[in-house]
Amino acid sequence: MTTEKQFIRPGTIEEAVQTAQLHISSFAYLAGGTDVVVNKFQGNDNSECLIDITGIKELNSVFIDGDFLKIGSLVRLDDLKHHDLISDNFLALLEAANAVASPMLRKTATIGGNLLCENRCAFFNQSAWWREAVGLCLKCDGDICIATGGKKACFSKFVSDTAPVLISLNTSIEVQDLHNSSIVPLESIYTGDGIAPRNLSKTALIRYIIIPLNQVFRTIFKKLRPREAVDFTSLTTAVSLFNSNKIKIVIGGVDPKPVIVEGNIDDDKELIISAALRKCRIVDNDYYSRTYRKEMIRVFLEQSFLELIN
Ligand SMILES: Cc1cc2nc3c(=O)[nH]c(=O)nc-3n(C[C@H](O)[C@H](O)[C@H](O)COP(=O)(O)OP(=O)(O)OC[C@H]3O[C@@H](n4cnc5c(N)ncnc54)[C@H](O)[C@@H]3O)c2cc1C
Repeated sequence: MTTEKQFIRPGTIEEAVQTAQLHISSFAYLAGGTDVVVNKFQGNDNSECLIDITGIKELNSVFIDGDFLKIGSLVRLDDLKHHDLISDNFLALLEAANAVASPMLRKTATIGGNLLCENRCAFFNQSAWWREAVGLCLKCDGDICIATGGKKACFSKFVSDTAPVLISLNTSIEVQDLHNSSIVPLESIYTGDGIAPRNLSKTALIRYIIIPLNQVFRTIFKKLRPREAVDFTSLTTAVSLFNSNKIKIVIGGVDPKPVIVEGNIDDDKELIISAALRKCRIVDNDYYSRTYRKEMIRVFLEQSFLELIN
């Protein structure tokens, strides 16, 4: 059920954040809308005002700025491949973008929206009557986590497919707020709390995704899902190997935030995998069981290490 009463389309970033401030009690930014609108229809987003940011032209650009590649937050996932700067340097990002949803959705969905798409859970992403019949969970104003049989914490899973690759490449984001703009590491915006999974202020708007250039690296991306299209992730892994022999592993789909493990390619792989398994708070909130997804973390990481050294 949609509840919005106002739809506003600002032309500049400044106008967008000011409009957001005016509607602070109940608004959502709308980019491609492939997450927000579905959440509205399921009754999981009741924003009364939608601020459509797609008219902000500046957010559609991709360019080099010194030692960094800057990608505007409104660049559509399907359009990333049309930029040589991305296809020449960041193939794993294209693979990840191409693993999101389906071809039609990727023509609408943006990279900024993908980084901020809402955490998911088998007990949350249901129609309102389904959730009420089962008993509301913590993420929709209930008092316990149903997936865990009663815990007082929410384990809704982080599902963005592009974020793990971007974090493994040490990406930052430029965030514009009412009175200031700042550049922060992408991973720093994810809280690990399934109810409030991000710590950006309500009015904050992502301007650019900023990836360092001139790092020598290879990245292996993998995604587990029941079908090769449409399905959200049950497990996403990105492993980047840098020429310093450092490895950065980022795991999505198995915890309320992306799980990061760093090491060296010469380290004992069993120790790295055990560290990753210990950090992921996997619960039974997905199509696949908790134990299967846990086992698949090991499989994906072992495969990624082999691919990186061969
Ligand atoms: C059937 C289906 C399958 C899907 N499968 C996947 C999948 O496999 N993997 C996956 O990762 N996602 C999946 N999605 C979710 C969604 O399509 C993607 O995450 C998409 O990239 C979201 O981008 P969007 O532009 O549509 O975001 P929107 O829906 O417009 O916005 C998402 C969130 O980001 C905020 N937002 C958007 N842009 C900005 C900005 N620049 N600054 C601040 N806030 C912003 C919005 O307010 C909202 O909270 C799927 C969706 C559907 C309907």
